[in-house]
Amino acid sequence: MTTPSLISALSRRLEGKVALITGGASGIGECTARVFAHHGAKLVIADIQDDLGHSLCQSIDQTNCKYVHCDVTDESQVKNAVDKAVKAYGKLDIMFNNAGIVDKSYARILEDQKTDFERVMSVNAMGVFLGIKHAARTMIPARSGSIISTASVTSCIGGVGSHAYTASKHAVLGLTKNAAAELGQFGIRVNCLSPYGLVTPMVMHFLGGNEKQVENSFNSSANLKHVTLKAEDVANAALFLASDEGRYISGLNLPVDGGFSIVNPSFQMFQYSDQP
Ligand code: NAD
Repeated sequence: MTTPSLISALSRRLEGKVALITGGASGIGECTARVFAHHGAKLVIADIQDDLGHSLCQSIDQTNCKYVHCDVTDESQVKNAVDKAVKAYGKLDIMFNNAGIVDKSYARILEDQKTDFERVMSVNAMGVFLGIKHAARTMIPARSGSIISTASVTSCIGGVGSHAYTASKHAVLGLTKNAAAELGQFGIRVNCLSPYGLVTPMVMHFLGGNEKQVENSFNSSANLKHVTLKAEDVANAALFLASDEGRYISGLNLPVDGGFSIVNPSFQMFQYSDQP
């Protein structure tokens, strides 16, 4: 028979843990905040969208969810966000470096602007570097911690994102591997997630149109059919890496992409022409 304590362990997989989520006010970050809170984590949401961040915390739990303004490109603000988590809850168990942006447009290399490249690298790569650095500062003395960053399918393949975005997400993967190699000796795990395309405010702002059209477009290029990637799928992967169920997993780039990044669609030996 399943005991009540086992049920509670299964349903509250982050009980007693403290998590900081950058880019937590919107999209994947917001969804992950809700999933982590549901599983018992105490939260600090760090973002530059202050109104959204405050109202998210109010809707989650005013005692166990705090908002801090934090531009991840500014080291003093990242340091402050980590310090706020430790001051509020006494420790930091989970750092989710999720803040990210896309280019203003898909420019070809000859038209690509240095300033746009720097802007994307600054948030997506530098922001993750600073997040790992300041999380490690508090996790090393504790001899434990889980650091997760949001990469993308563009972390491992070319041709599906802009030059800056692709370079920045390759950098997230490189940082993940290097930090995992250094921080393992302190009991700290470092992993990243690589989602395929999904509807979030970032994507809608970039692609325009309506959500159904964007989802249909993603679905038509997807490897896995009859299912649409949602923010909850990414949040659940983050939950796995954050929880004790992932306690021996480090240095992993976990694809949340339905097999997109391992398939070459121009080679269609497995296509069924008679599928109903
Ligand atoms: P989103 O725009 O809904 O969320 C991103 C959040 O990051 C926003 O709240 C934004 O305010 C915040 N942010 C932006 N710049 C920041 C900065 N300098 N400092 C702090 N916060 C900042 O978009 P999303 O799709 O949920 O993106 C989350 C992450 O997922 C990003 O790293 C993105 O690259 C990655 N990703 C998204 C997709 C997708 O298709 N949506 C696919 C793969 C990876």
